[in-house]
Amino acid sequence: MKEDYYELLGASRQATQDELKKAYRKMAVKYHPDKNPGNQEAEDNFKKVSEAYEVLKDEQKRAAYDRYGHAAFSNGGGGGGGGGAGGPFHDPFDIFSEVFGGRGGGGGGGSIFEEFFGGGGGGGSSSGGAQRGSDLRYDLEIDLIEAAKGTEKEISFRKPTTCSKCNGSGAEPGSSVTTCPTCAGHGQVTASKGFFSIRQTCPTCNGSGKKIEKICSSCRGEGRVNETTKIKVKVPAGVDTGSKLRSAGNGEAGPSGGPAGDLYIVIHVAEHEVFQRQDENLYCEIPIKFTLAALGGTIEVPTLSGKASVKIPTGTQTGTTFRLKGKGIPSLRGGYYGDQMVRIKVEVPRSLSSVQREKLEEFALACGDADEPEAKSFFEKAKKFFD
Ligand SMILES: [Zn+2]
Ligand SMILES: [Zn+2]
Repeated sequence: MKEDYYELLGASRQATQDELKKAYRKMAVKYHPDKNPGNQEAEDNFKKVSEAYEVLKDEQKRAAYDRYGHAAFSNGGGGGGGGGAGGPFHDPFDIFSEVFGGRGGGGGGGSIFEEFFGGGGGGGSSSGGAQRGSDLRYDLEIDLIEAAKGTEKEISFRKPTTCSKCNGSGAEPGSSVTTCPTCAGHGQVTASKGFFSIRQTCPTCNGSGKKIEKICSSCRGEGRVNETTKIKVKVPAGVDTGSKLRSAGNGEAGPSGGPAGDLYIVIHVAEHEVFQRQDENLYCEIPIKFTLAALGGTIEVPTLSGKASVKIPTGTQTGTTFRLKGKGIPSLRGGYYGDQMVRIKVEVPRSLSSVQREKLEEFALACGDADEPEAKSFFEKAKKFFD
């Protein structure tokens, strides 16, 4: 069990950066190897408090630690399990981009999407100390109808793919492959830096743990080549701009036959000419004639599933909004549909023929100043200011 970073520093979870710094200094002085020559326990403690402070002093890392604990810095998080490359000293940023860039997503939300993809064997088995391939991002634009109904898209992109000639080993088929003499096949070596000892990828074999007699002519020993890949992406109904779909194992192939990274597909929904979307609800504005607004009647309104009729009551005003239940976007997590809001805009004719003008004047005369409750109350209020 790894100890809690806050406990190591003797600081509270609410500690300010200043308090953390003071706590760290106190501990660092206490355990400093210069003060404790030959004391292994002190040296271990010194490393631990340094590691804790290294993380907590960075607000971004601290937030991840608060949220995910030590898991934020270990590679095991999402199934990639690429052996070896763990430990906060190694390369915390690598792991961070995963935590923030989607792997953790909305706190557990990410994994829901995996089922939408056909293939992808969840990261694969990490072979020895081989590095995992990088995750990739693909930006996919779809239209509103596709977002509402779900769709399947074929996407193609170039990425490092396991070399088919050597199967990722990097060795020319038939040539001999022996254990790397520098790291004895572990893929990692331990280097000393002051009183720290750091495990790092073996520089001779680049972590593969193998020594290759004759390098593969097709990938030059890298174990992977750039190739165009085509995959089918199932986009579930209900996605919105910013939705992320994860396609396990469709990222870059790992170097030297390491497991592949994941592909993240980031959805962008194009703007629609008629509908605006807010979460699961759709909004549209429908202009109607002022005579229809006054007399009442029925109009036809476009929806995602064809036309719907909407009854316009006598005396409908601009801004009146009708709700069409269940005519919106389905919820991504299933279970319900949003609504469609139809906002009425009353349109007055911009020009009149002489006959129309005559009739309207007649109409105006017939009205007198009856039946204008809003105008009446407005002018009554305004009077107070202008009298
Ligand atoms: Zn090859
Ligand atoms: Zn090696």
